[in-house]
This record gives sequence, C-alpha cells and structure tokens, in this order.
Amino acid sequence: MRTAELRAFVYRSSDAILFALAAVLLSALSASAEPVPGSLPARWNTGAEDCQASPQPPLQAHAYEPQTFILRQSPCASFEANFIYLLIGSDKAVLIDTGAVADPQAMPLAKTVLELLPDKNNKKLPLLVAHTHRHLDHRAGDPQFASLPSVEVVPFDLEGVQKFFGFNNWPNGIAHIDLGDRTVDVLPTPGHNQTHVAFYDDRTGILFTGDFLMPARLLIEDARAYRESALRVIDFLNTRQLTHILGGHIELNAAGRAYRFGSHYHPNEHRLELTKADLAALPAAFEHFNGFYTRYPNYILTNPVRNLLALGFIVLVVLSVAAFGLYRFLRRRRRRSA
Ligand SMILES: [Zn+2]
Ligand SMILES: [Zn+2]
Repeated sequence: MRTAELRAFVYRSSDAILFALAAVLLSALSASAEPVPGSLPARWNTGAEDCQASPQPPLQAHAYEPQTFILRQSPCASFEANFIYLLIGSDKAVLIDTGAVADPQAMPLAKTVLELLPDKNNKKLPLLVAHTHRHLDHRAGDPQFASLPSVEVVPFDLEGVQKFFGFNNWPNGIAHIDLGDRTVDVLPTPGHNQTHVAFYDDRTGILFTGDFLMPARLLIEDARAYRESALRVIDFLNTRQLTHILGGHIELNAAGRAYRFGSHYHPNEHRLELTKADLAALPAAFEHFNGFYTRYPNYILTNPVRNLLALGFIVLVVLSVAAFGLYRFLRRRRRRSA
C-alpha cells in the first residue's frame, strides 16, 4: 500500500469507528430516555350509594411503579375525590396536591405519604409539597404537613408560586424540580385558575394536569389564558415522551356523562388517564366553545360564572313576567269591582 492509499484507508477506518461510536452513544441515550413503565388499576374507589351503610377506606394508594404513587381520596370522604401524586427521586420527593380533606383522622394523608417515603441516611427523604393550583380541594391537607421535619410546602398564592419556582415571565418559562436522578418540570397553565401549573415527570413520561385537563368538567375562569396554556403544553411535549396525562378528578362515567355535582358515588367511572390526542384537541375545543357548556368525548368545557349569569338573567325574566301578570290581574280585578 502506498502512503496516499494508506492515509485514505486510515481516514476511512477512523470515520467508520466514529460512526459506530456515535451510533452506540445515540442508542444508549435514547434507551436511557425511555420512560419507566408502570401500571394503572382497573378501577379506583368509586364511593358508594350509601356511604354510611358501606364505609370506604378514605384513601386508595396505588404504586404505578416503585417510585411513583397515585393516591385517590374516596368519593365518600369528599365528593371531590381528588387524585394526589407522590414522585420519589434519589435525594428528594415531591407530593402534587394535598386533596380536599383537612382532618387527619378522616383522611390520614401525611401518615400514608410518610409510610411510602423511603429512608436515606437513617432519615426520611426530604419532601416538597406542591400544588397544581390554589383551590381548596387541592390543598386542604396542607396543615397535616406543616410541622413535619424536612417537609417544605410551596405557597399557593400566585406571587408565592412565581417566587418559589423562579418564574419571572409568567405564564412563560419552565421551572425544574430536581429530585435526584429524576427531574420534574413545572409549566404554568393558567385558565382554570390563575395559579395553575402542570408537572411533567421525566422518569415516567407522565404529565400531571390537576384541573387543567381531566375526565371532568373543565371549569373556565379565563378562556384565552386556558387556550394559550394548552398551546404551550403541546409545544413543550413536542420534544418529550408522553405516556399518560393524569389529572385531579374523575367526574364522568365511561360514556362521558357527568355525575351529579356533589355525588359520593361514581358508578362505571371514566378512566383517569387521558392522552396526547385529548390535549391536542383542547385548543380547537376552545375555538368551538359556545361560552356556556360543551361536551367532548373525554371532558366538558364549562364557564360557571357565565352559566350563573345566564341563570340569573332567566330568573329575572321569569320574575318580571310573573310581576307583570300579577299587576295586570290586580288592575283588572280593581276595574271589575269598581
Ligand atoms: Zn380547581
Ligand atoms: Zn379540583
């Protein structure tokens, strides 16, 4: 082999080696990015027709995988029947929401969470208690955690949330919670409530959406902000793997019909998990929303304030018609007797 040929051969071989190395590295990277698989139960605690006659355990704890727990409050304990999530990293854990019940006797939330938390260096792993938003059914259990050692509770007011996570261009930007070998991204999602955030977990590929997206009535406070939040989350997920979307409640049955408001019994409940398609359909749903109440296969858009105003208007019209009728009746009677 001549020198030129030898040089070309060496270059070709080193190219091939580099190629092979890059391929190995890429496949290793994509393998490590695969979400940890988990399982969801066939059915959750759906309450009872008569909660007195058939008492239910207040809390159902399900291990999705060994470091991810889903806690469901029984519809008998609170009609809100919140879902609460515990994500455990190697240095820290995060609890998403504390549910609708304050009383530790009726709802042993902190006790259950502490039992699930592993030890590190002979101490319980530090816990961060965060909220999807400030509505009371997502933070009523906060006081149970207030005085526990190595537990930090994130404030629930807008300014407190922004400051804690370091958002300085709300609702833009993404914050990160580092749990050790596990990162949870925090995404502002106002619309249902101005303090609302969603959490994306890089370990399981689950997006935790609170009341922003769930098989339930999506109560709209600010339709424009809501739609824009949906667009931002869709954009965020373009470069992430998504396994499930898990929200804060189930209020629909499997046929997509809503349970009566305040019901302690959810027969034939809709599945908890929603998909990327449900999220993708949300911006268009807002474009076609009639402003009051519109049903989609896996959620219902509704504006409670507008519905109340409309109801108030109808009541006013009915009362006016009745008053006018009464006035005419009395006038006719007076004329007849005169
Ligand atoms: Zn809410
Ligand atoms: Zn809620």
